[in-house]
Amino acid sequence: MYAPRLPMSRDYLMPPPPTPSAAVDGDARRFALRRVLCVGRNYAAHAREMGQDPAREPPFFFAKPADAVFDAQPSADASVAYPPLTENLHHEIELAVAIGSGGREIPSAQALDHVFGYAPALDLTRRDLQKAAKAKGHPWEFGKAFDRSAPLGALVPAARSGHPTRGRVWLEVNGELRQEGDLSELIWSVAEVIAELSASIALAPGDLILTGTPAGVGPLVPGDEVRGGVEGVGDLALKIRGG
Ligand code: MN
Repeated sequence: MYAPRLPMSRDYLMPPPPTPSAAVDGDARRFALRRVLCVGRNYAAHAREMGQDPAREPPFFFAKPADAVFDAQPSADASVAYPPLTENLHHEIELAVAIGSGGREIPSAQALDHVFGYAPALDLTRRDLQKAAKAKGHPWEFGKAFDRSAPLGALVPAARSGHPTRGRVWLEVNGELRQEGDLSELIWSVAEVIAELSASIALAPGDLILTGTPAGVGPLVPGDEVRGGVEGVGDLALKIRGG
């Protein structure tokens, strides 16, 4: 008779890595993370500030490792060391979407049924490494997918927040407003992003989608106090430490 084997530690050469996870607002249990998938240039004003044409071309995606995510809800007193090999660390405040049930080729009309909840996230970016990679036609990987590059606020279950289609997306550094936009300005909606992604790869519970950042991205330096949020979803807070 078939008996599935539990992943006991004796099956591994060394202890398996911890499961990356996110805090859930109002629930002691955590949301186990699988992949972090990010949409590039999904607000016209940000596309323009990056020197790109904001025409509605098909969305494009990149990824971060799930273990780049860490708790940055205001109560977490989170901080991150200034990362190595960059002199231009940028903030990008974004709406994050947590996938609760997976699938492939999900039609956009059904896409929101697959959402567990929403959180504010930062897509921390080593802009100088990203630009250098772009110029050489190399992958962006290390401009985006570095350690602790995805601070995340607490997830709010969609059962409570609903599926926000408008709401202010904002970020302040040391109390000064740097980024401001509205979810209604997304070039590709959450439902469309899920449909596009699931046409390319199978989505599964634990996937987290960062939906792109509004205009106003800019540099962070050690000592900076960052606060940001998405109206109707929640806030995050983060301090930048010396490297
Ligand atoms: Mn981004």
